[in-house]
Amino acid sequence: MSLIETTSSSKTQEFIDKELQYSAHNYHPLPVVLERGEGVYLWDVDGKRYYDFLSGYSAVNQGHCHPKIIGALIEQAQKLTLTSRAFHSDLLGEYAEYITAYFGYDKVLPMNSGVEAVETGLKLARRWGYDKKGIGANRAKIITVAGNFHGRTLNVVSFSTDPSSRDGFGPFMPGYKVIPYNDLAALEEALADPDVAGFLVEPIQGEAGVYVPDDGYLASAYALCRQANVLFIGDEIQTGLARTGKMLACDHEGVRPDILILGKALSGGTLPISAVLADDDVMLCIKPGEHGSTYGGNPLACKVAIASLEVIKEEKLTERAAELGSYFRDQVRALNHPAIKEIRGKGLLNAIVIDHHDPDAAWQLCLALKENGMLAKPTHGDKIRFAPPLVITKDQLDACIHIIETSLKVLE
Ligand code: PLP
Repeated sequence: MSLIETTSSSKTQEFIDKELQYSAHNYHPLPVVLERGEGVYLWDVDGKRYYDFLSGYSAVNQGHCHPKIIGALIEQAQKLTLTSRAFHSDLLGEYAEYITAYFGYDKVLPMNSGVEAVETGLKLARRWGYDKKGIGANRAKIITVAGNFHGRTLNVVSFSTDPSSRDGFGPFMPGYKVIPYNDLAALEEALADPDVAGFLVEPIQGEAGVYVPDDGYLASAYALCRQANVLFIGDEIQTGLARTGKMLACDHEGVRPDILILGKALSGGTLPISAVLADDDVMLCIKPGEHGSTYGGNPLACKVAIASLEVIKEEKLTERAAELGSYFRDQVRALNHPAIKEIRGKGLLNAIVIDHHDPDAAWQLCLALKENGMLAKPTHGDKIRFAPPLVITKDQLDACIHIIETSLKVLE
């Protein structure tokens, strides 16, 4: 294998050095410094253009700096940005009506980052478990699955199975039971415990490397939860909002989560905006003063989220993701490259698994992709996620498949 020489300019290196000196070392980015984005493209500080195949971990489904979303952001930023929830704003009701009608739920609870929405969903499930299911005080349990990624708070890493998320951060929060993913027998067994309030699951595990469960898993898991009077909590922060070729990945199996968690593309990559949706029976278990966030549901976020959701429908992003996603998988499969063990995914959330004697091969391939004008990042060593903005055209996708083919030479 020829090691890829990265052509970092001295300007690029200066930015990287400053970041390394003053910013915590909690990420290991590719050596590229970006300063501009538009649609599927990003430009670095030397003016080089790239196709973005990460989309800010699927936050930028609508494409970078979408004019309608940026327009809404600017217009509202000049009018009113934050009231806090101590007072009403003229936009929260409008946004709540819009998003609940959009997804078919009674109520929304607005938050900011994804992990905050996950925390909110878990709190709701516990509270529902006590108030409605009659679980004894402090006994509520939540079932989660191995390989999950739901964010980085201490509570959420308490049920992570990834050592790099957990190690050295204990003691952990009790009340979770982790079972294997895609294992209905294990779920049925865990659900026999009457203290279980909720089952938290990603319909496709994104961070773990785009693991798609067997057909029927979600529908059967939902039916088992229903039978056991347990809430099905769908974390659609990465898979939702058209990414997998349906509005929600759960839609592939006709499943409507009891608690739906959204984030990322709810703002088209502009602000941290997340949301938890549920019906009154669940949502109204939380009373005034029992949960909240200074920025959650702020007027700026409300306006931006409505615009972001409108763009998804107006530009038919679900249909685009479905059509171009299967085309992309077919084309990558047709490359028939020995270093690609597998390509998997749904819609435009895909990953390749690299089969190579060098454990660093996926990183080397990402460096080669970067040199050739495409940005993607390995996950868990041997997998590379391919998730472009959903506004990508077929011609652009063809250009990217060509870049992948050329870049794979680095592994020969
Ligand atoms: N849940 C899922 C499925 C995610 O993919 C992520 C982020 O990648 C999160 C939760 C956490 O979101 P955030 O980083 O906005 O806290």
